Amino acid sequence: MELARAAAVLEELRAPAFRLEQLRRAVFDEAVASYQGIAVLPAQLRRDLEARLPLLSLSVRKVAISADRRARKALLGLADGKVIETVLLRPSPTRWTTCVSTQVGCAIGCTFCATGLMGLSRSLTPEEITDQVLFWRQYMRSEGLEGRLDNVVYMGMGEPFAAYESMAESLRRLLDQKQFGIGARHISVSTSGLAPQIERFARDFPQVNLALSLHSADEKLRSDLVPVNRAFPLARLSQAVGKYLSLTRRKVFLEYVLLGGENDGADSARQLVAWIKATGPRELLHVNLILFNETATRHRASTEPLARRFQALLLGEGIKATLRQNLGRDIEGACGQLVVAGGEGR
Ligand code: SAH
Ligand code: SF4
Repeated sequence: MELARAAAVLEELRAPAFRLEQLRRAVFDEAVASYQGIAVLPAQLRRDLEARLPLLSLSVRKVAISADRRARKALLGLADGKVIETVLLRPSPTRWTTCVSTQVGCAIGCTFCATGLMGLSRSLTPEEITDQVLFWRQYMRSEGLEGRLDNVVYMGMGEPFAAYESMAESLRRLLDQKQFGIGARHISVSTSGLAPQIERFARDFPQVNLALSLHSADEKLRSDLVPVNRAFPLARLSQAVGKYLSLTRRKVFLEYVLLGGENDGADSARQLVAWIKATGPRELLHVNLILFNETATRHRASTEPLARRFQALLLGEGIKATLRQNLGRDIEGACGQLVVAGGEGR
C-alpha cells in the first residue's frame, strides 16, 4: 500500500478527507489484512477500495517456520509473476526483525551466496519493499504473535545500493511517522561495497545503520568472492567508509562470512586488522563474523575453533568482533540462503 496512491484513489472516489486518516490507521497502525476488517469505513467504500487499491502489492505463496519457531520465511508473488523471499526473525522473546529483499535475484554474483547464483531479474519498487514489512505485521496479527515488528534489515535478496532510488524511497516510508514509524537506529542496510553509494547514503540517511559485506581484506581474494571489488577495490572502499565515518560519526558493521581454508586464517585476520586501522577509528568499526550457511556453492564453513581464533585475533587488537547467531538455517532462511527454487523468480 502506498499512502500517496491511497489519497489519490479516495479523492477519485470523492470520499471526505477524514477517510484517508481512517484508512491509514487501519493499514499501517493496525495492520488489517482485508477491507472487511476496516469497520469504520462504509461498506460501499470498502468495496470500491478493494477493487482499486489492493492492501498489498504482493501475495503470499508459502510460509516456512523453523523448528525453534524463531525464524519464518515467506515466498511472496509479485504482480508480474516473479517471486521473492522475505524473513521474519525473533532474535529475543520480545524483539522481532524482518530481513527484506530489494531485488529479484542479484547481479553482484558473490560466489558463496545462493541469491548471487540466480543473477538479476529486476529491482523491487519502494512499495514492494515496504509491503514485506506490512505483510509480516499482518501475519503476526493473524497468527496472534505478541510484540511489535520494528526492526528492519536490508539483508534479503539483492544489493540495496544497486536499487538506490527504490531503497531510499522505501526507507523514507519506513521512517515516516504517518506510515511505519520505525526508528532510524532500528534499520540497517547492508551493501557488498558500492563505494559512491556509501558516500551518498552517509549524506541521505546518516542515522540509519550501515553494514558493509567485506569478507576479505585481500585484494585478489575479495575480487574472487565479491566480484564488485574489481570496480571498487579495497582502497576505494576504505576511502568511502572513512568519509561515511567522518560525516556520521556512527559505527559501521563489517560483515565477514568465514569460509573454511579461504579467509579464516591468521593472515586473513591480520589483513583485516590492517584495513580497519587504515580506514578509521577502531571503535567505529565493528566486525560481525558470520558462520557460512550451506548453499549450492563450492565453499565450506570454517570450523568453530578457527572462527574463535579469528575473533580472538581481532579482539586482541582492540577491535570489536562478534560471532553472529544464525537463525533459520533449517528453513534456508538464513543469510545467503535466499533463492527461489528452480529459478521461479526469474
Ligand atoms: N547484498 C547485500 C545484502 C544481502 S546479503 C550484501 O551482500 O551485503 C546479507 C549478508 O549475508 C551479507 O553480508 C552476505 O555477504 C551474507 N551472506 C551471503 N551468503 C551467505 C552464506 N551462504 N552464508 C552466510 N552469510 C552469507
Ligand atoms: Fe548479492 Fe549480497 Fe548475495 Fe552478494 S551476498 S550476491 S551482493 S545478495
